Amino acid sequence: MSYISLYRKWRSQTFNEIVGQPVIVQTLKNAIETKRIAHAYLFTGPRGTGKTSAARILAKSLNCKEGPTPNPCGKCETCDKIKNGHSVDVIEIDAASNRGIDEIRDLRERVRFAPLEGRYKVYIIDEVHMLTSEAFNALLKTLEEPPSHAIFILATTEIQKVPPTIASRCQRLDFSRIKLAEITAHLKKIAKAEGFAAEEKALDLIARSSEGGMRDAISLLDQAISFAGKEISYDSIVTLLGTADEELLFGFAEAIAEGNETRVLSLIKAGVEEGRSMSQVARDFVMHFRNLLHLKVGSGEALELTSEYLEKLRDQAKKFTLPRIKEAIKALSRAELDMKWHPHARLVLEVAIVELLETKPEVAEQKPAVKVSDRPTMAAVPQKPVETPSQPIVKPIKKDGVTIERIKHHWKDILESMKQKSLSGYVSLSEAEPIEISSGKLVIGFRKGFSFHKERMDDAKNRESLMEAVREYSGERLPIELIIAEPAPAAAAAALTPSGVAEYFGGRVL
Ligand SMILES: [Zn+2]
Repeated sequence: MSYISLYRKWRSQTFNEIVGQPVIVQTLKNAIETKRIAHAYLFTGPRGTGKTSAARILAKSLNCKEGPTPNPCGKCETCDKIKNGHSVDVIEIDAASNRGIDEIRDLRERVRFAPLEGRYKVYIIDEVHMLTSEAFNALLKTLEEPPSHAIFILATTEIQKVPPTIASRCQRLDFSRIKLAEITAHLKKIAKAEGFAAEEKALDLIARSSEGGMRDAISLLDQAISFAGKEISYDSIVTLLGTADEELLFGFAEAIAEGNETRVLSLIKAGVEEGRSMSQVARDFVMHFRNLLHLKVGSGEALELTSEYLEKLRDQAKKFTLPRIKEAIKALSRAELDMKWHPHARLVLEVAIVELLETKPEVAEQKPAVKVSDRPTMAAVPQKPVETPSQPIVKPIKKDGVTIERIKHHWKDILESMKQKSLSGYVSLSEAEPIEISSGKLVIGFRKGFSFHKERMDDAKNRESLMEAVREYSGERLPIELIIAEPAPAAAAAALTPSGVAEYFGGRVL
């Protein structure tokens, strides 16, 4: 016998089997019992929350030989045909693949004919928001004057894309994300019935990563069984999902709390070497700090976590101030975004973390020193943080003394000096090289595709550090101009290549 996926095997066949949608189940059952069936329904909600299953069950309820009944028998010919998608009276249209007007025109032609086997003709249009506007217009005409034997069930994950003229003619039912505990319990039931041993933590992790969708959760369980066999451990799910495990998450946050740069970077290295995807790891880090944030503001219950896990989080949250947690979330989520288009995803994450650690919380809270005597006109004005101007006015000095050759000659030394002053500046600058001295400014060129590094370099602190490093080797504080150099300047030294940077971090280029 051919293999049947767990999802198909365990798809709900009755209203009572639908998990996590009690209001919808009650509404539909009542409608059938009181014979107040709407001519058109609009099922909306996230993917995998039971919309299509509910639509098929409704079709069975209406056409079952024993019906109409809220509890279709599941045994009669009609129920069987609907279950297997063979009923001529239940027509499923996938709007995602049939966007065309032809299908809806066809529907308009045929909807007039009475059902052949059952009492109703049931049209299930999945992902209805994908229809073209012409198709929507054709559908609207049918919905305006539906034959009494026709029932329409429109399903969508994106309600905002359904024209109001259509939506207003339907009874709308909102499917919600299924609660974590309900998904876990259902997975447990399936695993038990199928004869698999699964760790509670493993099922919890599957449920968590399916984000409230039962279909994804069951598909993941199926994959886990193919991957791990009859015994599903937490570790095997971690490997399967490429997600960060508990140890990595808590270790990472611990190292951030301690300001331990070396440990943070080695944890990232270890995380990647175990085969995780960089963006998944970044996302997991963001979620971990989000959890800490909830604990900090006292809304930990909203997290749907085990009490043991919550306790662990609570302990860790004590090591952070609220502003520090917010800083970490900002830095990590920005890195997660930047990583999407950047060729060196890991570098982006590393730079973000190094920068985060460079802004020590106590430093961040200090007000910048402003010497009133330097700025007499500002004395009456409330103090604002003073930003270093991007091109500070330098004392008029002779520019003849310093040449671009001299800067180039000492570039490696300047980079070394940068490393001491600002690690993130150093990492960014490693993708650049000095081009020329023009109008008294030192022009630094970043290779094409490294605008991320340029952007990172372009903050007051990094500019200041670079000017200082340049002064150490040239005797002058030259204003800095950052450009994207085109064509790409050839990287002269190994330290200027991505692999050079990776080497510095003790890793490989991603
Ligand atoms: Zn039946």
